Amino acid sequence: MFENLSDRLSSVFDRLTKQGALSADDVKTAMREVRVALLEADVSLPVVRDFVKAVEAKATGQAVTKSITPGQQVIKIVHDELQHVLTGDEDPGKLKIDNPPAPILMVGLQGSGKTTTTAKLAKRLKDREGKKVLMASLDTNRPAAMEQLAILGTQIGVDTLPIVKGETPVQIAKRAKTQASLGGYDVFMLDTAGRLHIDAELIAQAAEVRDVANPRETLLVVDGLTGQDAVNVAQEFDDKIGVTGVVLTRMDGDGRGGAALSMRAITGKPIRFVGLGEKMDAIETFEPQRIAGRILGMGDIVALVEKAQETLEAEQAERMMKRFQKGRFNMNDLKMQLDQMLKMGGMEGMMGMMPGMNKMKGQMDKAGIDDSILRRQIALINSMTKAERANPDLLAASRKKRIAKGAGLEVSELNKLVKQHRQMADMMKKMGKGGMLKQAMKQMM
Ligand code: GDP
Repeated sequence: MFENLSDRLSSVFDRLTKQGALSADDVKTAMREVRVALLEADVSLPVVRDFVKAVEAKATGQAVTKSITPGQQVIKIVHDELQHVLTGDEDPGKLKIDNPPAPILMVGLQGSGKTTTTAKLAKRLKDREGKKVLMASLDTNRPAAMEQLAILGTQIGVDTLPIVKGETPVQIAKRAKTQASLGGYDVFMLDTAGRLHIDAELIAQAAEVRDVANPRETLLVVDGLTGQDAVNVAQEFDDKIGVTGVVLTRMDGDGRGGAALSMRAITGKPIRFVGLGEKMDAIETFEPQRIAGRILGMGDIVALVEKAQETLEAEQAERMMKRFQKGRFNMNDLKMQLDQMLKMGGMEGMMGMMPGMNKMKGQMDKAGIDDSILRRQIALINSMTKAERANPDLLAASRKKRIAKGAGLEVSELNKLVKQHRQMADMMKKMGKGGMLKQAMKQMM
């Protein structure tokens, strides 16, 4: 029995005292656990190595927020990185089936769940997208497999190509194509023969069928429980036949999903669907979060960390608001707002979002204030002392000269900044009384 990763990490970090940031040693200790957990989840070694390196780089030196433990923080980083490795660019569930009749080639080893998956996908296309689908079995060596597809077809209300004894797989593929065109089908799915192992004949046959059918999608079905083997199979099929995506079956079993991570990292092919049982509806689009959660066994912690971050931000906002309401709006606050404004698309973006700020935007436009001014103002605030930032009233004339010089600007600009600060502080105070400030702050954070 393995402990799941979140347990491992928690016990490591429980022993550490809380610090402001994750130290290199903390991260190293955590990474040892991550490495073991991933290997246990059947992720291949090179993938584990790259993964650990990436997480290490991201985690070291990260600030640890107050309401969560360093262990939780690391788990969140690991989780995000897992998702990153698993995610492709395209929508995995969107099959390329424009230009009817669109051929879909199904390949895979015997027993992987290929026939079942063919029927599941046909049903999905029919039910969700209203497509007219034709299925054909090309497994001429196994009459039982051909019959199985016919039975499933009847069960789900999808047509199958009538079985004609003595035909070769290529002949069946051609007949399916003709039938699909004549019968006005949107999609025709070719369920190729499977073997227990990849051999030359299997590959030759699949390649021949591929050349005749010219498929829009070639989906490889692999058993998710076979872990690393599944990845090797995928690599070989992709090298020899070329696949456009992978379907991982038996993800309802107790496999830990490591195959998914290696699959994506090693073959570069997207996982499109996962099979979650024997029933015809037991198929879903691939969702990386789920697999990430499964590998780590820690879905709750990610939610907790996200929540903690939200809470922290909300607490900060609340504290700031209380101060502003009392008229305590200092240069640090102004600087934070200027930074925020730049981050949020400058003046234009910012003012539009803040209720009660339209009036001020007008004033700023009139005064010709734009983003370069924001940057200059930030520079001015940066050259003030800590005390001056906290209490701008301390700014005597001699100091103003020095500050302006430090920022490479004119004193007049600093005077403008001071005036603007005063106006904003007044406005904050007024807005605070009307409850408008709260609303504005909420949108800002
Ligand atoms: P094929 O030889 O690759 O065509 O495999 P089949 O489609 O005949 O499936 C082999 C067995 O696996 C059948 O009993 C299926 O019901 C079962 N199967 C297929 N997909 C899944 C899945 O996602 N989860 C589970 N639990 N069983 C599955």
